[in-house]
Amino acid sequence: MTDQTQVFLAIGSNIAPERNIQQSLALLNTIPATRVRVCSSWYSTKAWGIEEQADFINLVVGLSTGLGPRELLIETQRIEARLGRVRHLRNGPRTIDLDILLFGDRVIEDPDLSIPHPGLTARDFMLTPLIEIAPETHHPLRGRRVDALTGEILHRQILGRISPGDRARAMDPRPDRP
Ligand code: ADP
Ligand code: MG
Repeated sequence: MTDQTQVFLAIGSNIAPERNIQQSLALLNTIPATRVRVCSSWYSTKAWGIEEQADFINLVVGLSTGLGPRELLIETQRIEARLGRVRHLRNGPRTIDLDILLFGDRVIEDPDLSIPHPGLTARDFMLTPLIEIAPETHHPLRGRRVDALTGEILHRQILGRISPGDRARAMDPRPDRP
């Protein structure tokens, strides 16, 4: 078997978010040599950057992959394209955004790929779900566990956690029976 790397991916959507997030999770499991191992709660968040747009749902998932970081980026971009992501506005509405937060202990600083993700510790909607699922994870640039980095949060966008019941109703929006 090839070596598996532990990867954390941030998922965000504010266009039909329940459906697009469910579909993205299913598609992540179709990436070669890759499995979704753990999934955080879903968080309702205020839009960041451009504020006049629908709230987002954000979460973080842990994957194991035999791919390299660039191969994984190609696969996640393919899923974004498949789910109809059109880039109109930077930080504008999107059907799905898949950002690689951490790729094992790798540090990559290329124009088109930055790992650890530069927003990871500044944005509560990336750091909080990561701490929920993997608090002991090491941040290779800070040299500390991610749960020791909450003092670096600059953008507090989280409105609340979405309960599993609310999520199920949003997926199946039939009116309640009398
Ligand atoms: P954003 O995530 O900042 O809202 P996009 O999803 O449109 O914006 O991504 C813009 C570019 O960010 C992508 O084309 C990709 O090459 C680059 N990028 C750099 N680092 C990463 C990363 N860690 N994960 C995902 N994309 C990244
Ligand atoms: Mg992105």
